Amino acid sequence: HSIQQISKSPYLNQSTATPAELRTALHIQGLTPAKVESFDTQKKRALAQLRSKSSDIEKYVFLAWLRNTNVRLFYGLVADQLEETLPLIYTPTVGTACQNYSSIYPFLAPPGQPDGLFLSINDLPNLTQIIQNYKPYPQDPSLTPQIAVITDGSRILGLGDLGVGGMGIPVGKLQLYVAGAGVDPRRTIPITLDLGTNNEDKLKDEFYLGLRQKRVADDKFFPFVDAVIQALTSLYPKLLIQFEDFSSEHAFQLLDKYQPTNFCFNDDIQGTGAVILAGFMNAINLAGIPAKDHKILFFGAGSAAVGVAKQLAAYFVNDHGMSEDKAREMVWLVDSKGLVTLDRGDKLAEHKLYFARKDNGGTQYPDIASVIEHVRPSALFGLSSQSGAFSESVLKSMATLNERPIVFPLSNPAYQAECSFENAMIHTKGKVIFASGTAFPRYTDPNTGLISAPGQGNNMYIFPGLGLGGILAQPATISDRLIYSAARACANALTVEERSQGLLYPVLPRIRQVSAEVAAAVISEAVAEGSATSDQAISVVKSNDRKALLDFVTSHMWTTDGVEEEITTFAPHL
Ligand code: NAP
Ligand code: MN
Repeated sequence: HSIQQISKSPYLNQSTATPAELRTALHIQGLTPAKVESFDTQKKRALAQLRSKSSDIEKYVFLAWLRNTNVRLFYGLVADQLEETLPLIYTPTVGTACQNYSSIYPFLAPPGQPDGLFLSINDLPNLTQIIQNYKPYPQDPSLTPQIAVITDGSRILGLGDLGVGGMGIPVGKLQLYVAGAGVDPRRTIPITLDLGTNNEDKLKDEFYLGLRQKRVADDKFFPFVDAVIQALTSLYPKLLIQFEDFSSEHAFQLLDKYQPTNFCFNDDIQGTGAVILAGFMNAINLAGIPAKDHKILFFGAGSAAVGVAKQLAAYFVNDHGMSEDKAREMVWLVDSKGLVTLDRGDKLAEHKLYFARKDNGGTQYPDIASVIEHVRPSALFGLSSQSGAFSESVLKSMATLNERPIVFPLSNPAYQAECSFENAMIHTKGKVIFASGTAFPRYTDPNTGLISAPGQGNNMYIFPGLGLGGILAQPATISDRLIYSAARACANALTVEERSQGLLYPVLPRIRQVSAEVAAAVISEAVAEGSATSDQAISVVKSNDRKALLDFVTSHMWTTDGVEEEITTFAPHL
């Protein structure tokens, strides 16, 4: 029995690299051509096949198939070709994949191999049983899941309600945990809750695979999420739960409800907050004006914007000794109706109240131009999904107001960004301190030939390391202090060379190093705040040996090596 499991396991099978003796032992001789290939040759072929596909969505389908049939080959390829593969397995391509998920679904995995775990509202009575059905690989039962990423598909990237198509997000995000921080792929669960969809196109699409009904109301939504969390934590008490791409209102409500008691965080709110804070910490060093003189304008007032604003406010309190009130007054929010003020006359969503202005003297500012004139911001953050909102005139006013304006158009995917790097450079005459949500190309100044690289405020600099640190330290909850320590570690992870190039974030190929720094900081902070429960983590932190701590972290990172030993553990007689 175990023999068949090995040759069929996406985790253990080595396909054309299976050594001759093992082929004999597994009774699979003759089921592949005779050639025994190296892992490198397999990766080379896979890369050539990948590049032969003409569209990104075909590349996505190819990579999903590879991951669902040969885990090591997939992650080996991703590790070698991070810059080429990340935009295919996550943004921007994952957005297209989610939009088309019901059409491509049958081609992502062989029959019987789950792409992720789907829990529908009708499954309520059987959640515990169904969750246990998710076993993508035959494996040692002690390898229980360590991280779940959960969405309900209601607000996928900036693309709106995609229903069950949202599955692309937890699946993709967990791949980034593996690639970015070496979380063990066997110990991850991508989960999509199916509570219906309000997307009319999906409801009419004959191929749509989710429940064909409108989303359930809050009186069903919250108890269902609660039942899922209860079932997961009673099965897997040490599981870290990451909420992702819930509609803003629900995202804040779930975080408020579960953060104080459960081992969980929300990446849209806290991960985004931390990564943008990290970039901002480095940006204010370049801007050259005192922290207290900054005025920060958020264009967009959803979960991401408010998450970032809260992290920034906490930073002004912690690092610059401001009162909470003063820190809050550093921030202005703009939503689809203009500057968010208390006396605007509409009913503000709960999450906007904290930063709503009361110093507008009764005047309302309905558009970005009037807000900029009124606020005179030093920093402008775009989290609105409004393509081109940072127009030529907006960028020019930022450059007029500031020696070095901070402009972060953070909306995803690229076509929704508030401005491009090129436009930001041109319209500020190269003065801008820039970071974006998606990767923009470098900019070459046509007069000087000088090449500048844009910063990418990619959440991937935070959540994989935060997750790994959480797994290793095992605090009961993810406190604001842990999130903050992750941001600080990310900001400090710049090398001397990266700093001298004016970068705000480390370069992506160093992601595992950055994740190790972030995880180490999270573990240290968990020990310092007294929440860490892992004895190993506590003793390595108490030894006060930084290198030992980093070694502790890196020694727990999963790699593609060691398949032979895995097979022997799985089937000792082989
Ligand atoms: P969201 O909850 O839907 O919020 C969007 C916000 O934009 C809302 O406050 C909305 O206003 C506002 N908005 C819409 N149209 C506008 C207009 N014409 N003028 C001004 N404001 C307008 O979405 P979210 O989760 O916060 O995400 C927002 C964006 O951030 C997405 O594109 C996402 O991909 C991106 N993001 C980037 C990163 C990153 O770079 N690391 C991380 C997370 C998210 P109302 O409130 O009035 O509707
Ligand atoms: Mn998200």
